[in-house]
Amino acid sequence: AKQQQRGSSQYFSAAMGSDARERFKLLKGLRTGFEESQLFVVYQPQVQLETGRIIGAEALLRWRTVDGRFVPPDQFIPLAEQSGLIIPIGEFVMRTACNQLNKLRSLGYDDFRMAVNVSMAQFRHPGFIDMLARSLQDCGVHGQNIELEITESMAMEDADLVLRVLADIKQLGFSVAIDDFGTGFSSLSQLRQLQVDRLKIDRAFVQEAQSSTAGSTIAQMVVNLGRGLGLTVIAEGIETEEQRQYLIGLGCHEGQGWLFAKPMPAEELEAWMKR
Ligand code: C2E
Ligand code: CA
Ligand code: CA
Ligand code: CA
Repeated sequence: AKQQQRGSSQYFSAAMGSDARERFKLLKGLRTGFEESQLFVVYQPQVQLETGRIIGAEALLRWRTVDGRFVPPDQFIPLAEQSGLIIPIGEFVMRTACNQLNKLRSLGYDDFRMAVNVSMAQFRHPGFIDMLARSLQDCGVHGQNIELEITESMAMEDADLVLRVLADIKQLGFSVAIDDFGTGFSSLSQLRQLQVDRLKIDRAFVQEAQSSTAGSTIAQMVVNLGRGLGLTVIAEGIETEEQRQYLIGLGCHEGQGWLFAKPMPAEELEAWMKR
C-alpha cells in the first residue's frame, strides 16, 4: 500500500509539472504565433430566425500553428487572459473586425452588425476605451454597427467596474450583448442596471431544449426575461430545423449556428452573403 501511495504521489507531481510545462510551452507558442500572424479571425453569420435574413456576424478568433494544427480558443484564450497577451490580441481582433465591417459597407451592406467578444482582462485595462475609440476612427466605422459580447459571469464578477466601463462603451455608440446567458446567476435588477441590448442564450440550453425539461424551462425563461425587458434575444448553437422552429415558438428573435453557417474566413463570408 505504501508503495502504491508513493507511486501515485509521484505520478501526481509529475503530472502537475508537465501540465505547467505544457501551458508554458503553449503560451510561448501563442506569443510567437501572434507575432508571426498565425492568428486570424473568422465570421459566423447571425440571422433573423423567421426569415433567415443575415443581420450580422460574430468575429471568432482562430490560431493555426506552423504545422497546420488548430488550437481551440477555449484553450488559448484563458492563457492570453492570464498573461496579459489578450490586450494586444483583443486589439487585433477589434481592428480586424472593424476593417471587415468597413469592407462590407463598401460592398453595400450598410446596416451590418459585427459582434466582437471581449474579456474581463480587457475591461480592466485602462487603455480599453481609447483602443475602442481609435479602432473606430482608424477604420472609419461607427460604434452603432458593432456589438460587444460580454459574458454573464463577467457582469457578475465586478459589477461596479463593468457598469462604469459599459457607460463609456455606450458613449461610443456600441451595443452590448450578454453572452452565455443562463449559465450565470445574474438577478433581474442587475440585468436592468447593465443596460444591455441583447441576450444571447447559451448553446447548452438550445441543445437541451427539446430533450430535457430543465433545458427547455431555461430557454423559455431567458426568452421571456429578455422580451420582458425590451431586449432582443438571440440563440447560439442552432444545429437543426427543429431547434429553429422551437425557438421561434418561444419568441426568440435571432439565431446563430451550424444550421445557417459555420464560422468562415472573410472572403467566404462575402461570397455567402451574395447568395
Ligand atoms: P462563444 O462566444 O460562446 O462562441 C460561440 C462558440 O460556439 C464558437 O466556438 C462557435 O464556433 C461555436 N458554435 C457556433 N455555432 C455552433 C453550432 O451550431 N454548434 C456547435 N456545437 N458550436 C457552435 P469557438 O469559435 O471555438 O469559440 C469558443 C469561445 O472562445 C467563444 O465562445 C468565446 O468565449 C471565445 N472567443 C472566441 N474568439 C474570441 C475573441 O476574439 N475574444 C475573446 N475574448 N474570446 C473569444
Ligand atoms: Ca460570443
Ligand atoms: Ca456564447
Ligand atoms: Ca461559450
